[in-house]
Amino acid sequence: MAWFVQPENLRLLLECEMWTKRAHHFEVDLSAFRNILDLDKDRMITTVEPLVNMSQISRLTVPMNLALAVIAELDDLTIGGHINGYGIEVSSHIYSLISDTVVAYEIILTDGQLVRATKDREYSDLFCASPWSQGTLGLIVAAKIKLPIK
Ligand SMILES: Cc1cc2nc3c(=O)[nH]c(=O)nc-3n(C[C@H](O)[C@H](O)[C@H](O)COP(=O)(O)OP(=O)(O)OC[C@H]3O[C@@H](n4cnc5c(N)ncnc54)[C@H](O)[C@@H]3O)c2cc1C
Repeated sequence: MAWFVQPENLRLLLECEMWTKRAHHFEVDLSAFRNILDLDKDRMITTVEPLVNMSQISRLTVPMNLALAVIAELDDLTIGGHINGYGIEVSSHIYSLISDTVVAYEIILTDGQLVRATKDREYSDLFCASPWSQGTLGLIVAAKIKLPIK
């Protein structure tokens, strides 16, 4: 602790430090959310849970001669982490970043409510704010991702 802190500010500083430590992070076990729920070849949309990783998607899509528009190099990067942690190393000059290929999210808000967020309709503000939010706005439990048309 800095020596120049005035005694009257000491209690406030200690409280702030304690609060910071308490608020630093919390963990929610999403380990069951690792399934590819659907691949609609007519609409070219796949619905995935957040812990689905790049390898899983490739194993499903490549035999069908399909692929995501944006795929990270590392097989174990997850869809949820890639969107909320904002993978920016891999992008497409046509489709942009992976979050730009998402058409809808299902998100659990901090009050426990499950909502669907889309770009132009319900919860569009949440939809736009979710990428790079590091999980601060809610937990993504599913994402609908548009595959490029062949
Ligand atoms: C070695 C290495 C190589 C990399 N290579 C690439 C690359 O090739 N291309 C590229 O684009 N990026 C790359 N990255 C960056 C990478 O995309 C990001 O670090 C990404 O966030 C990591 O994803 P993850 O699955 O490990 O997520 P995590 O690190 O587990 O999560 C990232 C963030 O998202 C939050 N989050 C995760 N899941 C959810 C959820 N369901 N709901 C709400 N919040 C959630 C977490 O709380 C955390 O804040 C690389 C990073 C590393 C360390």
